Amino acid sequence: MADIVLHREPSRGTTRYVAPEVSYLHDKFVNVIFVGAPGAPDREWTLVDAGLPGSADKIKRAAAELFGAGSRPAAIILTHGHVDHVGAIHTLARDWDVPVYAHEMELPYLTGRSAYPPPDPLVGGGAMSVLSVLFPRGPFDLGSRIRELPADGSVPSMAGWRWIPTPGHSPGHVSLVRDIDRTLIAGDAFVTTKQESLTATLTERPELHGPPMYFTPDWGHARESLRHLADYAPAAVITGHGPPMRGMPLQTGLRQLASQFDTRARPAHGRYRDRPAITDANGVVDVPPPQVSARTMLLASLAVGVTIGLVVALRRRSDGQVALPAARQPDDVSLARSAELAAADGGYDRTADATTASTDGVAVGNVPASAGAVPFYVDLR
Ligand SMILES: [Zn+2]
Ligand SMILES: [Zn+2]
Repeated sequence: MADIVLHREPSRGTTRYVAPEVSYLHDKFVNVIFVGAPGAPDREWTLVDAGLPGSADKIKRAAAELFGAGSRPAAIILTHGHVDHVGAIHTLARDWDVPVYAHEMELPYLTGRSAYPPPDPLVGGGAMSVLSVLFPRGPFDLGSRIRELPADGSVPSMAGWRWIPTPGHSPGHVSLVRDIDRTLIAGDAFVTTKQESLTATLTERPELHGPPMYFTPDWGHARESLRHLADYAPAAVITGHGPPMRGMPLQTGLRQLASQFDTRARPAHGRYRDRPAITDANGVVDVPPPQVSARTMLLASLAVGVTIGLVVALRRRSDGQVALPAARQPDDVSLARSAELAAADGGYDRTADATTASTDGVAVGNVPASAGAVPFYVDLR
């Protein structure tokens, strides 16, 4: 557990190079990507993904370093809408007054219509997997700022790039490619760190892995997406988690991962291993049953979270190193909702009669008044 303490790194908090006109900011365990020439004028660069809750100031500082004080992007493109990719989106979209683009199959989760399928905290074997039941999974509502990516494959404000569908990790997940030099922004279609492991996510060891296991509800589609990206043979990649990779190690590694997907990427067991979550244009339709109760996993994840918090606090006091920051009051998509949402997973057991339950225990009903009367996916077990 001692490894959860970060050691000081001079470059932390500053952007790093991926490929010409592609830089990224690594914040805690998540990457945010900037596409545009350094010094690009106002509205002539693009942000891809929007980081963790509470990271808006950090992202704005990085943007100011790259493009000059006050420089705003022309658009924000989302590879997908998981909370670690949209955490600062409300603040950034409002302060920069920019449109946000995502694939149409991702829109239910970004327009208040549906929460994502529940995570599978039993897969991957790391603390991040267990903690995943505490991560907010929406529905998030970006209101009128959210728009659908153009059907022709072009990427707004990113000339020379195109988006390709890479579903599996999420229903409307996309990757972005620049054909002239085969640069790839892969989101979480695959990642370059073992994302299920808290230690690995903090130490940034470069390793090719399939999509984060705990939040991937369709392994068949995830495999097809990875094969597609391996066939593309990218020259450089930045993913949602982990450092950039380039050249032959990337291409060879991706081909190997694609051919060994079922043994290396697909979990050996778990809720979605053999049966995907079913989704449609309105969000989640059906999910396989969980393999332990939501209440058990909530208790386990709270225990892990408390333990980590204690270790971090003790290490911070004892040696002054930079510690994993505690979740602070977020500026937009709220981590503080995590306990509320996680509790709702278990708590809905008691209110099952008030929802529209199907025979397998999964319901699509309405959120209680406190959460607004939006259609909401709830897990009854
Ligand atoms: Zn994700
Ligand atoms: Zn992610």
